[in-house]
Amino acid sequence: MISPDRTVASATSTAASGAQVMRDQSADFQRSQNSVPLRVAVLGSTGSIGKNTLEVIAASDGRFEVHLLCGHRSVDVLVEQAHIHRPRWVVVTDPKAAAAIGSGVFPEGTELVIGPERLEELLAGPEVDRVVSAIVGAAGLRSTWSALAAGKTVALANKETLVTAGPLVTQLAARSGGVIIPVDSEHSAIHQALRSGRRHEVQQVVLTASGGPFRNHSKAQLTDVQPEEALKHPTWSMGPKITIDSATMMNKALEIIEARWLFDLQADQLGVVVHPQSIIHSFVEFVDGSVIAQLGPPDMKLPIQYALAYPERYDGPAQRLDFSVAQRLEFSPPDLERFPAVRLGYDVAARGGTAGVVLNAANEEAVQAFLRGVVKFQQIAELCERAVEEHPFLGDPTLEDILRLDVWARKEVQTWMC
Ligand code: NAD
Ligand code: MG
Repeated sequence: MISPDRTVASATSTAASGAQVMRDQSADFQRSQNSVPLRVAVLGSTGSIGKNTLEVIAASDGRFEVHLLCGHRSVDVLVEQAHIHRPRWVVVTDPKAAAAIGSGVFPEGTELVIGPERLEELLAGPEVDRVVSAIVGAAGLRSTWSALAAGKTVALANKETLVTAGPLVTQLAARSGGVIIPVDSEHSAIHQALRSGRRHEVQQVVLTASGGPFRNHSKAQLTDVQPEEALKHPTWSMGPKITIDSATMMNKALEIIEARWLFDLQADQLGVVVHPQSIIHSFVEFVDGSVIAQLGPPDMKLPIQYALAYPERYDGPAQRLDFSVAQRLEFSPPDLERFPAVRLGYDVAARGGTAGVVLNAANEEAVQAFLRGVVKFQQIAELCERAVEEHPFLGDPTLEDILRLDVWARKEVQTWMC
């Protein structure tokens, strides 16, 4: 879905599908065939995925160039990145942060652009070939939407786009010719593993989860965990919001929903297994019982490169597995008692409609409150569950409904926390 036609089918058919042919005729494919660098817009360039993306582009041997950098407030980082990568545009989405920027700080040839509306215009324009969507939270929806509406290929890290508006986003891509290639490591693994079989041969998809820093904590121990402990992820280095989501396992809930819409699967075709080493990034089981996995060290540069370069592969900067040293790979089922967020993820994936946007908005508010010390760790999932249960559910929402319920859920959760 993004669509079986555009990712799953194009990746799994032996003969070129219609979608693949369309892709091969696209302007960006022609540029890559002619050895002209693809012009990449990096949204959220000051964050963890954004910085990894810039490393991938710098090591791409001229396949890609940074054409647009976008950050919210970290102006100093943007200035530094602009001097290294020399983009055509730097977009600062927060007007207040932009107002404080002095003149002459950006290199010659780089223009400062302010605000999300201008960003959306640039993404839709002819000078951007590919977009890396790595803004954190529902704030990433509009820019991703704009790029897809213009038929662009989007390397999607911002899972919240699919959690909040999955069906609308995949339908938009199908209409416009836009393509979504996942950056999330599990979904990148699934995308790769799906290339081993055909769509109707898929039995189930199993997402791996590190289990986070509290994997072995009892329910009683979880009552008093502090933000500093939750921010110490055992295997991945990521931004603060997704690190807390990993600790509550809400990240896996969001990823179940992401996979449901991205690959057009039913909720009961999705499984989760705890795998503390984070070496296997997910599995696809086919109807004959064959299970295909994708492996690699926990390094986001690989899924970022895969998403940017798909369908090409090349020798890039990602870490490699070293098979000359002993490796241990462990798997266990998730404990839904200690980590109720996972169960909530299944419920929301099964319900569809507005359940995803409400879960996501409630979680964003609750995570910020936990980081400020306002709510306890276990309250995050409780607040999310209450928001999902109490919201005025719509089965077939419009984008306006979704944006309205995003605001509704944030306000409700704020009230409950007072
Ligand atoms: P981060 O906190 O490190 O970076 C967030 C970026 O978003 C920053 O550049 C920030 O300036 C920008 N931003 C924040 N609010 C914004 C707003 N209102 N408007 C525009 N820009 C805004 O986050 P991250 O860890 O890089 O994660 C980014 C996205 O990628 C998230 O959706 C996350 O779930 C997803 N993701 C991250 C990882 C990872 O390893 N970090 C892995 C898989 C998926
Ligand atoms: Mg992930």
